[in-house]
Amino acid sequence: MRITEKTPAEEIYKKAYHLYQFRILTILFLIPLYVLTCKWGNFTIENLWSLYGVIAVELFVNRPYKVFFRDSRSGTQALIGSVGIDFLAETAALHLLGNVDLFIFTSCFFISIVYCALNLPTILTLQMATLASALYAGLIVLGRFHIIPNTVSLGPDLNQVQETAIIFRHIAFFYLIAIFISFLSSALMKKDERLEELLRELRRTSDKVKYAYHIQTDYFARMSHEIRAPLNSILGFSQLLLENPTEPLTEKQKDFLSRVERSAKHLRELINDVLDLSKIESKKASLELHEIELVKIIHTAIEVFNEEALTKRLLLGFTKKPLNLRIMADELKIRQVLYNLISNSIKFTHQGFVSIALEKETDGGARIMVEDSGPGIASQDQAAIFQPYEVTGRTIDKGGGKGTGLGLAISKKLVEMHGGKIWVESEPGRGARFIVTLPPVPPTPKPEGNALPADPAATD
Ligand code: ADP
Repeated sequence: MRITEKTPAEEIYKKAYHLYQFRILTILFLIPLYVLTCKWGNFTIENLWSLYGVIAVELFVNRPYKVFFRDSRSGTQALIGSVGIDFLAETAALHLLGNVDLFIFTSCFFISIVYCALNLPTILTLQMATLASALYAGLIVLGRFHIIPNTVSLGPDLNQVQETAIIFRHIAFFYLIAIFISFLSSALMKKDERLEELLRELRRTSDKVKYAYHIQTDYFARMSHEIRAPLNSILGFSQLLLENPTEPLTEKQKDFLSRVERSAKHLRELINDVLDLSKIESKKASLELHEIELVKIIHTAIEVFNEEALTKRLLLGFTKKPLNLRIMADELKIRQVLYNLISNSIKFTHQGFVSIALEKETDGGARIMVEDSGPGIASQDQAAIFQPYEVTGRTIDKGGGKGTGLGLAISKKLVEMHGGKIWVESEPGRGARFIVTLPPVPPTPKPEGNALPADPAATD
């Protein structure tokens, strides 16, 4: 964008450097093109050595030296200086080539003016347009009076009035281009500023939302802690009453007590999950890395669910197990992911199978797949189920019991803490396949504070 008083010196230096690179590229392209077309058209090439001199000035003298870009003011002056030298060098080059055709001559001036209009304030652009006009008209007039050799051929058999009209027309174009592009560039700059303002506002809002979310999860975590103690009493006493009643219980009393126990268990699961999630989200959870053997861990996870699968008459198996697949990971957290996935598959599948497969990735990492023949998940729900509090009910669960809606969200966070990925492939009615990939070694976490983000309202 255009340079203003506020543009940092670093930005101006970058602009000047880009302009320099552009000049080198143009020279590298134009010189061979010129020589080739001269050979092709049988034109004699004069003054090529003095032309090389001008090019050397462009490349070695007119390059952005960092010392000139100390602050915005000196940087702007340096850029204007370099544009000016470029202008003069360009004109000298055209003059030394001699008799260049009108198109090349005017195009060179046009390009320079457009560059100024895009990058410099309007007043400077107009000054450059004036310099261009003076050089342009000066070279032609001096050539016509044979004071210097001819730089450009305006066309054969033109009288003086016609030549003046052509020069006048071109100069008017120089100014028109300068004003038009400056105007366009200002309009774009205003849009850019508005966009930046909107972005800042968006960032502020996002900070506020993050802050509110943290306050909420923190509050959730505290509340959950408080609820856990009385809940454990409810659960403990209801279990005690069921197992060792002081007086024989009626069937109805037993039924009521079992309901109390079941509800308390579900509530405890939910609270534990909320606590787990808030711990991960507040970055308080860290990985305890060890070299783990995944085949062993999967075997143990399957053993835990064997009985449940048997009761539901499901085939539960470990179908693919590569030898010696070891990765660096937190064993407890990987176990938790596996338990979540396998227990979900068993919960939602009512006939058929649940199978687990393990593969070695090309980078030495692991790919774990938990597949079932359950009801499957519709494609529009496949991303949502990994979101926290995306509660049960998306999958029609015929008697699988209530869930917390947090298992997959926690699993996703745990896998991502390891630098891995988790996703599901499924079609309704054709089962689901959950895939987890884990790298051989988790990436080192970026240093981030544990504290709550600062209240954005304080800075408003
Ligand atoms: P929940 O405690 O409800 O199981 P999860 O986060 O583990 O919570 O799962 C979220 C939702 O994803 C579930 O309620 C269910 O709708 C869907 N889901 C998870 N696993 C499966 C599966 N194997 N088959 C079908 N649906 C599943």
